[in-house]
Amino acid sequence: MSLRSLSLALAFATAPLSLSLPHAAHAAAPQVKTQAPGYYRLMLGDFEITALNDTVLTLPMDKLMTNTTPAKVAAALARNHQPSPTPTSVNAFLINTGAQLILVDTGLNGLAGPQAPSHLLANLKAAGYTPEQVDTVLITHMHSDHIGGLMTDGHPTFPNATVYVDAAEKGHWLNPEAEAKTPADKRGGFTTAHKLLDAYAAAGKLKTFDGVTSLFPGVTALPAHGHTPGHSAYAVESKGQKMLFWGDLMHVAAVQFDTPATTIQFDSDSPAAYEARAKIFAEAAKDGYWVAAAHISFPGIGHIRPKDATDGKADPKSYVWEPVQFSLGE
Ligand SMILES: [Zn+2]
Repeated sequence: MSLRSLSLALAFATAPLSLSLPHAAHAAAPQVKTQAPGYYRLMLGDFEITALNDTVLTLPMDKLMTNTTPAKVAAALARNHQPSPTPTSVNAFLINTGAQLILVDTGLNGLAGPQAPSHLLANLKAAGYTPEQVDTVLITHMHSDHIGGLMTDGHPTFPNATVYVDAAEKGHWLNPEAEAKTPADKRGGFTTAHKLLDAYAAAGKLKTFDGVTSLFPGVTALPAHGHTPGHSAYAVESKGQKMLFWGDLMHVAAVQFDTPATTIQFDSDSPAAYEARAKIFAEAAKDGYWVAAAHISFPGIGHIRPKDATDGKADPKSYVWEPVQFSLGE
């Protein structure tokens, strides 16, 4: 290249683009804005686990958390780069054991209004399944963000499914005496429970268990009462691998892993909810099994470990969440 052509080339390369290219020859790409479908899959032994995102609620956690102060919650959120009000995932989980298709919780199905549209069914379909294929629904507890998806337009969303719930949970929310004892302005949960479960009960498809119960091969119900009277976790095991489905054992990762004693207004018995959380956190950290949580940022699957204190020793009362590493699989 001659010196003249080199200097011309350099002049061209350094010229402002607007001078060297005709206008609109390369329009800027429009921003797309939409996300990929909200499902995430991994294998647990022979079982296929699919996390399904239903929606994200934005909740004023500084006002909702108890056994703490709003300032402490605000500080913990800020430390974890979380805004307040705080975006809070609503996750459900599908377990294909090879013999059964089990759904753990069902999302809100729009019950939180237009600001939190539900995507559970769309994500279930995007994940390759249909509601008709679900033969079992395990309910951790009967709050609307866990049972909302059971009915659609007055019909069972999962027409071939039997629903399982702890006897103490059914014995509270579908109990006329408990409802009568509750102030009239606080009976919404009872009405919701009837709306979503009566059709299954009438068809003989609402079953209860009492205490630690082996429900199916590899699937065990474990009482974790406190958040609600019959709140339950579900342990799922295949080929030596274990995942514990926590339901609402905790709500705010930025606050409650560090300080598990922090409770929430949604608890029906906060001291019992804390006791269940402390016990299961300690067990999950010690045993190192997988955890799947309803309100940890999607997919809500990971492990917990004791928090390392500044002296290098593990703090026996504080924990750290280690989310699953994203993978596209095989
Ligand atoms: Zn919940």
